[in-house]
Amino acid sequence: MKAAIGIDIGGTNVRVGLVLELGEVLHQSRIEVATHSDGELFLNQLVRTIHEILAFSLDLKILGIGIGSPGANIEEGIIERASNLPWNNLPIVERLTSHFDLPVFLTNDANLFAIAEKGYGYASQMTDFLALTLGTGVGGGVYSSGQLVTGANGLAGEVGHVIYERNGRPCKCGRQGCLERYVSASGVVETAKEYIQAKEFPSELYGVPEHLITAQLVADSAKDGDVLAMKVFEETGKILGEALADFVAVLNPEAIFLSGGLSNSGDLLLKPTRASFSNSLLSIYPNEPAIRTSAIPDNDAGVLGASALVWEYSKKLNESSLTEI
Ligand SMILES: [Zn+2]
Repeated sequence: MKAAIGIDIGGTNVRVGLVLELGEVLHQSRIEVATHSDGELFLNQLVRTIHEILAFSLDLKILGIGIGSPGANIEEGIIERASNLPWNNLPIVERLTSHFDLPVFLTNDANLFAIAEKGYGYASQMTDFLALTLGTGVGGGVYSSGQLVTGANGLAGEVGHVIYERNGRPCKCGRQGCLERYVSASGVVETAKEYIQAKEFPSELYGVPEHLITAQLVADSAKDGDVLAMKVFEETGKILGEALADFVAVLNPEAIFLSGGLSNSGDLLLKPTRASFSNSLLSIYPNEPAIRTSAIPDNDAGVLGASALVWEYSKKLNESSLTEI
């Protein structure tokens, strides 16, 4: 049976998973970033962890190792300085290649959900789609004509940082009014706080201390019929739908997939999103792209996406070697 190793590098943990071709995660290990802040120490631990995984997967044919990381320099195979990682210019591809007789692939972590969706999700048969993660922030990945769009520096798909509102809410990127300040979990909280301040709608949330207002609480209140909370989701969906219609004008995708904490609010977000999307869509498209919640589990999306890099690239390698013959 074929399998791949997927490495998902995050600010708190590095997850290393062994994944079968159909997307079953057979085994997962974790390396804590804080206790491995020295680059050499981390690489040594990573090599040990992969050896351990390989030791109990002797009956599997491992095709390669895929890595998703912030600050990935795909050309050079290194992890450059990323704001949430302690390492600088970590030569991860070279190190793993020298230890294991396997191809090693690196991509930016923002693309992992799109790659997982293509490898194991509803998009497996699609050539053109957009995948958005609505978490604390908003990340995105794009497939066009069957290829992951990486851009000149591996930084394409920063959909969370298109401007929704000129001079709007300040964003951590240093600019103002970015989409992710409105349609992420933190965006929902901010909108809720603005509505509470404005006192326009009846709500149970008026008595809740500000620091206890979370996207989950707003979603739960909306499901219980709280008017203010429902308005927050209507507004969030309206903004998201308009933005997605803009993305369609650039990319002409077959479908748009949503994942991340906020997408778990289901119809609460999807209904107003789809309505505003339909209203805002340019009329030239014969089919309206579907907006769907992904079936890829949030917790495994990183490791799945990293492992799916291996299938993606080994397919390409096979195709190019066939062309050479
Ligand atoms: Zn921004």
